[in-house]
Amino acid sequence: MTKFGPAGNSPLFYQSGGKTSAEVPAWLKSIGLNAYEYQCGRGVRIKEQTAKEIGDAARKYDIAVSIHAPYYINLVKEDREALGKSQNHIMKSLYAASWMGASTVVFHPGGVGKMDRKEALLLAQKNLEETVNLIQQKGLSQIKLAPETMGKRNQLGTVEEVLALCQVADNIVPTVDFAHLHAVSGGGLTAREHFEEIVDRVEAVLGMKVLKNLHVHFSPIEYTAGGEKRHRNLEDEGFGPDFSPLAEIIKERNLSPTIICESSDRQAEDAIKYMETLEKLQ
Ligand SMILES: [Zn+2]
Repeated sequence: MTKFGPAGNSPLFYQSGGKTSAEVPAWLKSIGLNAYEYQCGRGVRIKEQTAKEIGDAARKYDIAVSIHAPYYINLVKEDREALGKSQNHIMKSLYAASWMGASTVVFHPGGVGKMDRKEALLLAQKNLEETVNLIQQKGLSQIKLAPETMGKRNQLGTVEEVLALCQVADNIVPTVDFAHLHAVSGGGLTAREHFEEIVDRVEAVLGMKVLKNLHVHFSPIEYTAGGEKRHRNLEDEGFGPDFSPLAEIIKERNLSPTIICESSDRQAEDAIKYMETLEKLQ
């Protein structure tokens, strides 16, 4: 079954009287959603007790939970101290995920900077491999680590780069952010074949099982020549990508992805709209 849910706590959650993240799963269930991406973008500060309360509620209301790791993570680092900080952010995110019963930790691979893109990727792969060993030692390999496709050209995170990172270990899977791919290609996701090309590459490189359970970010997005400017929502007119082509592919190939909606201020409302788009096909 395809799951839909918001990135973080929607303004609508608070307007509906919600106060703490532990109340989010019950609220999502009440509005018909079944996924939730807890945001640690500005650091993993959640306490073990709170994380466990969210996890208990998520199990009770059957909500699939993932975590977005801090934005400060950068695997394109030669400096040991800088790499250590990024690894620390990843480990903290994984501990929070284990307390919460989250299946997946999403992270941004890092900036290319002045490096050659291929060298940046090789360095990130090497650093990721080292991180995977650390994760194994701590017994956290059951949680999937999910590098995200990025929306700016100067960031590591094309589809091919993310797939290359995923080949480092079995517990690395992609987060395909279609909004970012739309932005970085200057509005390139307009026809169904553009979505199919991405989906086909995931299957070719990582296999059907990974594709079937793909972790997806989706929202309308505004972009400039450099790529992503900011996330928009379905109330704003004229911003792609359109969800319909992906919904058709999900239905026809019988996929069960988790779709996290990152629309600005309307992530729960737009997640419902995406869910309805898929339901209309079924
Ligand atoms: Zn992200």
